[in-house]
Amino acid sequence: METNVVIVGAGPAGLAVAACLKQAGVDFLILEKADEVAPSWRRHYRRLHLHTVKSFSSLPFVPFPKSHPRYVPREKVVAYLDAYAERFGLEPRFGVAVKSVRRAGEKFLVETDAGGISARKVVVATGNNAQPIMPDFPGIEDFKGKVLHSAAYTEAAPYAGKNVLIVGMGNTGAEIALDLAESGAHPTISVRKGVHIVPRQLFGVPIQMVGIASRTMPQALNDWIFPKILDLALGRLERYGIVRPKQGILQGIEAGRIPVIDVGTVAAIKAGRIGTAPDIARFTEGGAEFANGVEKKFDAAIFATGYRPANDAFLPAELRPDKSGVNARASELGVYLVGFYNPVTGLLREIGIEAQAVAKEIAGR
Ligand SMILES: Cc1cc2nc3c(=O)[nH]c(=O)nc-3n(C[C@H](O)[C@H](O)[C@H](O)COP(=O)(O)OP(=O)(O)OC[C@H]3O[C@@H](n4cnc5c(N)ncnc54)[C@H](O)[C@@H]3O)c2cc1C
Repeated sequence: METNVVIVGAGPAGLAVAACLKQAGVDFLILEKADEVAPSWRRHYRRLHLHTVKSFSSLPFVPFPKSHPRYVPREKVVAYLDAYAERFGLEPRFGVAVKSVRRAGEKFLVETDAGGISARKVVVATGNNAQPIMPDFPGIEDFKGKVLHSAAYTEAAPYAGKNVLIVGMGNTGAEIALDLAESGAHPTISVRKGVHIVPRQLFGVPIQMVGIASRTMPQALNDWIFPKILDLALGRLERYGIVRPKQGILQGIEAGRIPVIDVGTVAAIKAGRIGTAPDIARFTEGGAEFANGVEKKFDAAIFATGYRPANDAFLPAELRPDKSGVNARASELGVYLVGFYNPVTGLLREIGIEAQAVAKEIAGR
């Protein structure tokens, strides 16, 4: 089979590129291994709201409705993405997983579990969150409580009254801990390394906008001023075992470390409703022992330990994104990576920008 452009993935990135190509009059085929668009957003935990403001989180041509709140809830994001696909008549081939992409002369051969497709260009939109990371801890096999990755967490109700260990304080770990605390569970977050935490709004201004403005300031000024402002906004958190990394926020983001956007976790920690603990030394039958020697009982452990992109499963090394999520050589060859570079200004916003640039480039060639 032959086609002009193959888009791999029907999440926000794949849909955005497809809409832009449609508007440019370029034909394409979207391949999606799941049975519906945006499967990751359907699976995310129920209380999730966008952490980025709606005006900077929509896809090209279609803003979120005026009636939606500034931080759009998950189910409305799903409805928006469904409507987006319908509006542009995007009809992905569902249930088709891409197994490999390789060069075949001037074209590419896209091997799927439903046969091969020859394409002039390939857009890889399979996301940074393709595969949950489950680190191995000593003693985990002895732990008698429930063990799950945050990808499998949906709601707090089953954990009411229980002691729950959250492994990792990223955005997901911080928000799940809050969800649990608000529903009568007793969460403890294990914070292994330093972490930057920023409020969702800084003195009334959405942090995403602060981030956009700060990009024009010299890095040394950012590194000097932000800790002071954040101490003022959130208080000093060292006494709870939460320290800042040496690397400033903006450099951290460049290296792929997104700061935690606080939606209430810090207040719950200060109020004692969420406990904090250092790195886990080992799991025990009834709980965990931490690096400071303290042992605690837990009924469940939720690993909020992130994801990996997993495109190495089907892309040769020369076409994969580098650590910061880009690969200029791949686009020269005709393979475009969309949704892997995560800047301070938000990934959904970046996806919209990249989708338009890629569609323009493909239409121009
Ligand atoms: C919990 C959470 C909250 C987030 N909140 C925000 C936020 O508030 N603001 C923001 O800007 N960003 C946010 N992000 C980051 C990012 O915007 C989202 O992850 C977004 O869904 C990324 O879109 P994507 O299309 O790149 O990837 P995905 O949504 O993961 O879509 C990738 C698609 O590719 C498919 N796929 C993968 N491999 C293959 C294959 N081999 N063959 C065929 N199909 C394949 C998958 O099934 C999936 O449908 C959040 C991320 C997470 C995890």
